[in-house]
Amino acid sequence: MKKIFIGGKGFDLWLLWNAVKSDTKWTDPENAICIASGPMGGTPSYPGSGKSIVTAISPITESVMDSNVGGYFGPYLKFSGFDALEIQGKTSQELVILVDGVDQKIQLMESDGLPEDAYELSALLTNHFANGKPRSISVVSAGPGAKHTLIGCLNFTWYDAKRKRTRYKQAGRGGMGTVFADKGIKAIVARWDSVNLATNNPADKEALKIVAKMHSREITELDPKQNEMAKIGTTHLVPIMNDFDLLPTHNFQYGQHPGANLIGRDVYQHLFDPGFDGCWMGCTVACAHGVRDFVPFTGPYKGQKVFVDGPEYETIAGCGSNIGIFDPFTILEMNFYCDAYGLDTISVGTGIAFVMECFELGLINQSHTGGLALHFGNRAAALELLHQMAQGEGFGKVVGQGIRKMKAIFAAEYDADPAIMQDIGMEAKGLEFAEYVSKECIILCPRLSRRPRPFIGFRCFAPGLDCAVCASCHGTILYLKTIKTPRTLPK
Ligand code: SF4
Repeated sequence: MKKIFIGGKGFDLWLLWNAVKSDTKWTDPENAICIASGPMGGTPSYPGSGKSIVTAISPITESVMDSNVGGYFGPYLKFSGFDALEIQGKTSQELVILVDGVDQKIQLMESDGLPEDAYELSALLTNHFANGKPRSISVVSAGPGAKHTLIGCLNFTWYDAKRKRTRYKQAGRGGMGTVFADKGIKAIVARWDSVNLATNNPADKEALKIVAKMHSREITELDPKQNEMAKIGTTHLVPIMNDFDLLPTHNFQYGQHPGANLIGRDVYQHLFDPGFDGCWMGCTVACAHGVRDFVPFTGPYKGQKVFVDGPEYETIAGCGSNIGIFDPFTILEMNFYCDAYGLDTISVGTGIAFVMECFELGLINQSHTGGLALHFGNRAAALELLHQMAQGEGFGKVVGQGIRKMKAIFAAEYDADPAIMQDIGMEAKGLEFAEYVSKECIILCPRLSRRPRPFIGFRCFAPGLDCAVCASCHGTILYLKTIKTPRTLPK
């Protein structure tokens, strides 16, 4: 099995394949949440080697879905003796599961009265199990939004020793947090002690050392001249996407906006708390930046200082430009609450963008939205919708079902035009689009000539050629240009 299905995704898919039947639904007890990191997982000094893959039958696509995530959990699970974790069944009493690699034990603990949101819960569990070493703990948890929607995410933590606080990254896509919550799991905690290059038991430690050193040196030398990820993370993508007409704006109607400079790298580089921000040990890209002492102006943390993990590019585009918000602080607040509530920022952003366009086109109105005027750019309404999603209340409960289900609900209950919704509801197989305008682009094909060729997806329009077969460009899209597709507007 290890040879054929090598890698975290392979392990997960093998386990899931053996766990479910062809007619298994996401709510069935036999649906399995599988978490694995893969053979390189846990090797310090490589970006991405702390990642885990989470797999399950998704509530949003009703099919197999996987989502990858940083944080220390995958490596700690593996060092404790497990290449992969598979959870089946359901419990009526919420459980905290401890995988303790230090004391070599697994515990299932019934829990009651623990905080609902992941922000407070993950910090509390880290302190509880740390035994004086908070860096030895990683927590996986969801949040109330995962319970009340189909677009719940999972938060995977690591301990930031410099800032003395628990930080997290998200397995955002496909509602993995919703499956987790549906099973009745409150949190999974992994505990491990110190890590060095030998902990992952490499076949050739000396060779690994040499390659890791070269790799790290290259990143340290080139990153400051290129994307500056160690300083500004993925916010560098905002001006690039905007320049190439690819930044989703107003529900993917446009790829550019004059306000993009207010929500990109130039702004967040001043807001990010300076310092090392690797979500796994030894990562030299260290892109996982955050904002210290942010004070939300709505919701349960209103008026309190919090640490925001992010935003990354897709959160900025999803919870910013795509819903017409060009205010970096509102994006921070959306980011903070999505994580704390256990909600996927991409599905939240693209879902709200859809209902805003429906509202602007008159397909839905305030009698459907509970009085919310869902115009593009209405910051207060977007935040209110987010809080409603987390509590499973009001119109937020409907939005939390995802775009595909909203299309059916709006047509059946509000008499909205299905054809227009099909045109403007940006989902594929039920999953909300990620934050890139993916209409049409041009690549520079090195095999044919240096002239750009029109290109859609994997199909090359040069006669007789298929870009997936040629692959001379090694998948590198050298030049992108969006060609706008006119929208059919209602009468
Ligand atoms: S900090 Fe960024 S680059 Fe490094 S492992 Fe985490 S996500 Fe990857």
